[in-house]
Amino acid sequence: MDSLRFKALASIQNRQDDKQKPAKSVISEIYGTHVFGDKTMRKYLPKDTYKSVTSIIQTGEKISRKVADEVAAGLKSWAMEMGATHYTHWFQPMTGTTAEKHDSFFELRDGEPVENFSAGALVQQEPDASSFPNGGIRTTFEARGYTAWDPSSPAFLMRTQAGLTLCIPTIFVSYTGEALDYKAPLLKALHFAEQASVEVCHYFDPKVKKAAATLGIEQEYFLVDAALFNVRTDLMLTGRTLFGHSPAKGQQLEDHYFASIPDRVLAFMTDFEKEAYQLGIPLRTRHNEVAPSQYECAPQFEDVNIAVDHNQLLMDVMGKVAKRHNLECILHEKPFAGVNGSGKHCNWSIGTDTGVNLLSPGDNPKSNLQFLTFFINTIKAVNDNADLLRASIASASNDHRLGANEAPPAIISIFIGEALANVLHELESPKKDKKSATASNKATVQIPKVPEILLDNTDRNRTSPIAFTGNKFEFRAVGSSSNTASAMIVLNTIVGSQLKAFKTEVDSLIAADHSTEEAILIVLRGYVKDAKKILFEGNNYSEDWVKQAEKRGLSNIKTTPESLDAYISEKTIKLFEENGILSERELEARHDILLEHYTKQIQIESRMIGEMALSQIMPCAIDYLNELLLNYGQLSDNGFVTEAEMGKDYISRISNHINLIRTNVFEMIEERRSANKIEGSKQKAIAYCHKVKPYFEIIRYHADKLELYVDDKLWPLPKYRELLFVK
Ligand code: ADP
Ligand code: MG
Repeated sequence: MDSLRFKALASIQNRQDDKQKPAKSVISEIYGTHVFGDKTMRKYLPKDTYKSVTSIIQTGEKISRKVADEVAAGLKSWAMEMGATHYTHWFQPMTGTTAEKHDSFFELRDGEPVENFSAGALVQQEPDASSFPNGGIRTTFEARGYTAWDPSSPAFLMRTQAGLTLCIPTIFVSYTGEALDYKAPLLKALHFAEQASVEVCHYFDPKVKKAAATLGIEQEYFLVDAALFNVRTDLMLTGRTLFGHSPAKGQQLEDHYFASIPDRVLAFMTDFEKEAYQLGIPLRTRHNEVAPSQYECAPQFEDVNIAVDHNQLLMDVMGKVAKRHNLECILHEKPFAGVNGSGKHCNWSIGTDTGVNLLSPGDNPKSNLQFLTFFINTIKAVNDNADLLRASIASASNDHRLGANEAPPAIISIFIGEALANVLHELESPKKDKKSATASNKATVQIPKVPEILLDNTDRNRTSPIAFTGNKFEFRAVGSSSNTASAMIVLNTIVGSQLKAFKTEVDSLIAADHSTEEAILIVLRGYVKDAKKILFEGNNYSEDWVKQAEKRGLSNIKTTPESLDAYISEKTIKLFEENGILSERELEARHDILLEHYTKQIQIESRMIGEMALSQIMPCAIDYLNELLLNYGQLSDNGFVTEAEMGKDYISRISNHINLIRTNVFEMIEERRSANKIEGSKQKAIAYCHKVKPYFEIIRYHADKLELYVDDKLWPLPKYRELLFVK
């Protein structure tokens, strides 16, 4: 009988429908057609309501009952005309994915069927959701969490095979008001950072009324044929391959990056892009990535809240569309050992309502100083909160990238390029100006000139976790499967808090008779001195950097359970509480949720490894061993070979690997049992990380050796060469 693997391979050969031609469309004509955006609102809302809603989106003030009523009515008409029958509040619980609970517009009123969508249903919903992770905040006896409408992110129509559903982006909070999601603290962090930015902008331009943090997210992913995926239980249940010998050809020829995109993949891309455009996701870029079967897409940047929502939505759309193409879209950070993993580069900046990118170097001294202000404050914020930033990207899956011989390391550092490094150096130790030095004792402060070539953006270091790329910071260490809100909550909070501190310091110098410009430069100079240890221009992958970083006092926290401590340090609690982003209780709950999530992920992987080793890999290796023994037995019985020629060595090697798999699996199971008895979530996660997980590599090593020895036709799992080269 053919193994599942061969059946899967055969089904790919026989498939007729993989060369689907994507429907061609003019992007600008379909863009945003499934979004209740500006154009649709104008059409479906009374003029005054439209005005109120747009102003609420700008200012964040509360919505009146009347406006909510009219928006609900407009939304219903639009959604029903488009063919939707159901609506859902769409939210982002701490699971990292999105959640939805559909309700129909239809209801029976006095026995009569009607379609209804009230303001109440728009504004608030109580998902019966006591089983979302809540870190003890929402105990099950008061299992009431509710979702509340976020008017700043437009409603949209999500397509499934069954039709369209109206989705209302919402926050998710407990009955007592604590955040149970990513969006609620993100909105607070953004508001905070934006306020702080406006205040600082006033040193340079009093006309600035609003600032908005911006985000462009590059999403990396792998594609695998669905038939093969479905017989790799590890990929299916854990998102990564727990076994698999590296293929003879991997990424060593460097022939995949930016290579021509295979037809089948391009058809998938064109299709999901089309849905993304309808949803108002402004995708611009698509290309092959470094590893075989790895790709990337990136939209044009947007306000952070919208960019985060769009990325969550995009991941969902990519998964659904892939299935229609007999593909699986894999977002895990490290689905395949031995080839590159996937990240989600977060390009971040702040823009003003006067059209200025605050991280764009200027062409005159004043705008130049403004740039240096935001640039250096960000560096200082990262330097002072590196551990918290590391925690914000921590997960079981991202641990495979961070510090595990692959980009970027768990050491947080910033690459700014040689030109800017010189500028900061010049600022820190200005050349003595003899004239003014005699005139007064004050240090002369001169605005260092920022060279224009920066905008050229050619000076790139792809090994750095955070790189300044001409007019934005690129946070490259974020994991491909994560909700970027996690990193954005931290980044915007620390920068906001830093800008606030900066303002206080500068104001006090101004009060002490310094000119504004002088005061700013004095404070910035101090920051450069404090924070320059976080700047690193060299190769972040080198052993040398690990040593140097240690000397500089930078942390290198390689695993999640320890890195999460930063969420509940005194410093973090103060930072988040003082600025009204998260309370101590909320931080503790989050810390607990993340630890538990980590433990569960390792637990699932460990179970999967045990199951696959015992029920798939060992049986096939034993079958093959028996075959060999039988064969050699017959050969020697008939006098064809002597003992020595019998290949005993080969046989004992195979049986050795089998034995070692078995003993290590049972030892791992014992460690799991002990870990499960541990009460505290931190200690339990640590046990899973340092007692259970180390077995993964050992078991895998022996299984992967067997993959090389055992007859190919007996091997049950699709091999790397089959998974990684989608045709
Ligand atoms: P690369 O792969 O070379 O880093 P990409 O073009 O793939 O660059 O992605 C760069 C991302 O940075 C895009 O999403 C782009 O819109 C975004 N970006 C550009 N300017 C800004 C900005 N001011 N704020 C935030 N993101 C930005
Ligand atoms: Mg890119």
